[in-house]
Amino acid sequence: MLNIVIFGAPGSGKGTQSERIVEKFGINHISTGDVLRAEIKNGTELGKTAKGYIDQGQLLPDELIIDILASTLDSFKESKGVIFDGFPRTIAQAEALKKMLAERGQEVSVMLDLDVPEEELMTRLIKRGQESGRADDNEETIKKRLVVYHSQTAPLIDWYKSEGKYQHIHGVGTMDAIFADIVAAVEKL
Ligand code: AMP
Repeated sequence: MLNIVIFGAPGSGKGTQSERIVEKFGINHISTGDVLRAEIKNGTELGKTAKGYIDQGQLLPDELIIDILASTLDSFKESKGVIFDGFPRTIAQAEALKKMLAERGQEVSVMLDLDVPEEELMTRLIKRGQESGRADDNEETIKKRLVVYHSQTAPLIDWYKSEGKYQHIHGVGTMDAIFADIVAAVEKL
């Protein structure tokens, strides 16, 4: 089983690199952001709740997102592993993931930290907002999301270091070069 946590600030390239990892290693992909955006599109109760948080650049409550993750994980049959994209985002979520995987006789194989400087993140997200129309990719919400990233999510770097799972990835450069570094990190596991 190959269980990869792809980590990084908003705009660090997690979604893009996840797609390539899925293609190369044949594992399942869970993007909690994609799950929530689909719920919003379908007009579900969960979607309505999620929209309030997403539009404010805030995280959904841990219990809610942990439940969503558990049911998505259970929907995978005969999986070769999973790439977790956008989850965990808090220490409580990381602890829940560890427990969930342990109950299935598994563990996180590696946490890949896509490291990108702040100015570059801003530029990328504003461009993505213009191209894709993603509602939370506007300057005001991006700023809030980066504050949330630093206060609630970045502490996971030290948490995964202490678990012995941390792998730094230089997240600036061509998509191919970054992907090559990711593949090298995964293949040496
Ligand atoms: P993303 O597409 O991963 O950038 O997620 C977009 C938004 O969805 C975030 O700004 C949060 O509001 C919400 N979200 C996604 N994943 C999580 C998570 N693991 N915990 C809490 N909120 C989340």
